[in-house]
Amino acid sequence: MQITPHIHLVPRLRGSNVYIFIPEEEELTGMEEGGKKTLILIDTGMPGSEKKIFDYIKSIGFDSKDISLIILTHPDIDHSGALFAIKQSLAPDAQVAIHEADAPRLAGEKKLKEVKGRGMGLMLGVMGTFVRFHPVKPDILLKDGIEIAGLRVIHTPGHTEGSICLHFAKDHALFVGDTLRTDSQGSLEYMSSSISQDYAQLRNSVKTKLLPIDCDIILPGHGQPIRKDGSEKIRELVEGKS
Ligand SMILES: [Zn+2]
Repeated sequence: MQITPHIHLVPRLRGSNVYIFIPEEEELTGMEEGGKKTLILIDTGMPGSEKKIFDYIKSIGFDSKDISLIILTHPDIDHSGALFAIKQSLAPDAQVAIHEADAPRLAGEKKLKEVKGRGMGLMLGVMGTFVRFHPVKPDILLKDGIEIAGLRVIHTPGHTEGSICLHFAKDHALFVGDTLRTDSQGSLEYMSSSISQDYAQLRNSVKTKLLPIDCDIILPGHGQPIRKDGSEKIRELVEGKS
């Protein structure tokens, strides 16, 4: 599903959202060139999502080998689960980028996030136990404020310590990972406290880091994207509930 000229949402995935970002040639500073098509994946979904991701990539005229970069908003298994399979066979040359604070968990040097509490927290804990996680060593460690392929990295700790959002100013679009989500009615909300490491920090990240950003489109890790008045909706959330 195309959201903007540069952004697609892979349809019919279960678990979390996977976005495809098509950067413009001139925005590929420091990345490999040579007439080759270039795609960027933002998150990879649950283990087993790779087939649907690649079917969709083919349907929009690209090949799996065109993936030059995979950016993870954070390392939870519903976002990193298909990474190993993608790197293993379909896009072995793709570089993997994650915020430096979350890199040790992705690399298997630290355990994946442990969540306390019931409901979703329990479910995520159970998934983490029974769905085998294959660690992947990242190639690129992200920091707050840097630009990668035209996307600006915004460090928004809370859901995990290295959670990031990505701003693509040209399309007024903001990828928010699991810092914000939309509910079944499409309303913007904070990611639930039960599966976040530090909920107070998460809310503070939204207020201090996301509120100042100018965006129309909000692309969450869970729930449908918001297509207009993104900044206004973030403001309503911050002002209404804090
Ligand atoms: Zn998630």
